[in-house]
Amino acid sequence: MDLKKYISIVPDWPKEGVLFKDVTPLMNDGEAYRYATNQIVEYAKEKQIDLVVGPEARGFIIGCPVAYELGVGFAPVRKEGKLPRETIKAEYDLEYGKNVLTIHKDAIKPGQRILITDDLLATGGTMEASIKLVEELGGVVAGLAFLIELDYLHGREKLKGYDILTLMKY
Ligand code: 5GP
Repeated sequence: MDLKKYISIVPDWPKEGVLFKDVTPLMNDGEAYRYATNQIVEYAKEKQIDLVVGPEARGFIIGCPVAYELGVGFAPVRKEGKLPRETIKAEYDLEYGKNVLTIHKDAIKPGQRILITDDLLATGGTMEASIKLVEELGGVVAGLAFLIELDYLHGREKLKGYDILTLMKY
């Protein structure tokens, strides 16, 4: 299936010069969403995943159906102040300023094999911080899965040594 048909490219959003890849048409189409999910499920089976982790908000949309299909759990990574119990945090740099991501301290059992999912790999900062959280809790990052990789931002270089699945490249 040609998944790129379901990606809408929005110029100058959220700011001038950005060509935003909107993945919502893909989720809006039952067949395309299921097809993309199944590709990631097959990958997760190969990697013998015990738990899926995804950063808010689009990481949930990708990761939750994969976890459901595998019959494993899902743990959300969220921005600071959103999770109600004890958390650990990781910071990463944005173009201007910093972002902080958190995960519940008891979300991962040491040694669990983790798949981290997100809709899109750009500079890799979000995924790098998510990996730090998983590893600090003793999780083994067995794979990373994205719908889209923006090749020209070289996010992969930040994620050296990790196995990556991307369904589309731009
Ligand atoms: P990174 O941290 O790799 O620079 O940026 C990736 C994060 O920003 C992902 O969580 C992703 O949801 C969001 N993101 C950045 N650019 C885009 C885009 O063009 N389309 C979508 N759907 N998400 C984006």
